Amino acid sequence: MIDQSHHYVADHIHQLKPSGIRRFFDLASKLDNVISLGVGEPDFVTPWNVIEASFHSLEQGYTAYTANAGLLELREELSCFLSETYHVSYRAEDQMLITVGASQAIDLAFRAIINPGDEVIVIEPSFVSYAPTIKLAGGEPVIVEATEPFAFKIQPEQIKSAITPKTKAILICSPNNPTGAALNRDELTAIAKLAEQHDLIVVSDEIYADLLYDEEFTSFASIPNMIDRTILISGFSKAFAMTGWRLGYAAGPKAIIEAMTKIHQYTIMCAPTMAQHGALEALRNGRGSVQEMKNSYRQRRNYVVKALNEMGLTCHMPGGAFYVFPSIKATGMSSEAFAEALLEDQRVAVVPGHVFGNSGEGYIRCSYATSMQQLAEAMKRIKRFLDK
Ligand code: PLP
Repeated sequence: MIDQSHHYVADHIHQLKPSGIRRFFDLASKLDNVISLGVGEPDFVTPWNVIEASFHSLEQGYTAYTANAGLLELREELSCFLSETYHVSYRAEDQMLITVGASQAIDLAFRAIINPGDEVIVIEPSFVSYAPTIKLAGGEPVIVEATEPFAFKIQPEQIKSAITPKTKAILICSPNNPTGAALNRDELTAIAKLAEQHDLIVVSDEIYADLLYDEEFTSFASIPNMIDRTILISGFSKAFAMTGWRLGYAAGPKAIIEAMTKIHQYTIMCAPTMAQHGALEALRNGRGSVQEMKNSYRQRRNYVVKALNEMGLTCHMPGGAFYVFPSIKATGMSSEAFAEALLEDQRVAVVPGHVFGNSGEGYIRCSYATSMQQLAEAMKRIKRFLDK
């Protein structure tokens, strides 16, 4: 029977394009012997002590809902973690919310702050969910483009010229997905000045904070006067290799966190209880594992950047996360055509840059969160593809 149900779907959802990353995964999953540099998640399994703590919580019968905002004990531990590690101070009682991944925190942040027609400045290339979540919240994403000549770091003048009377917020993500670009304290301070001058909120997605390789991370809220206008978003997926646990959090000014909690209360109730128990152990005893994974990613990053440049794909050295974003412009192909042909011809899956925004055209995203052995084989295959 032909499915006729599409006419029931709301108009604004019809207009929303499906994620380009998914389409590529689907193509890759139909082929054998594929090396995937496509997925944005660690190849490591969650540290064993975290898994055990979660098992243990179930054995002890912790199978009910937690408080809407999440276990107070977890929020307290997080509050200490953020203060010790990133020098930002949040009260566990009313300034923190445990969410279903950073993804939910992003969604809640926009739903909590956006009035119809409000504009949010988004720096592209960016994580695929930003513009759609802003639109779903009734807002208007205003795109500014970070470009290769500036190592994919946005220039403050670009943000300044995108500000209008309707601008409500600036969304930043450092280290960035897909470029790996990381803004230093001075660069963030320049954005902070604009936020202050124009009375804007800054939504700071810091999910890759613990995967910054060559310098110390600056949390946006640690910049003077920013704590009262920043929504800090992060989670356990990337640094602790816990993508499937679906656990993230938001920290911010009381009224905003209360607004986010209200929506969370009615739509989710609480993040998964067993995952919260695991996260507690991750914060208490999992940081050594994060360091080990980080050292391994650093080694892989250095290897991949060198290999890509040597084969003629210009690739800047990303400061953090686990992605490289080489240019494929010299091949004369579009990023979609390049990624499709590479997959078909050499069975290597990468993500075409345009799925992260128009400014990503001419680039591909390769995740190096896969073993050195797989990376070496992938580099060999990409070189073979280019030699042809
Ligand atoms: N923010 C960025 C920049 C990401 O790259 C991702 C995942 O790829 C997320 C948020 C979502 O993370 P989570 O698994 O915590 O929902």
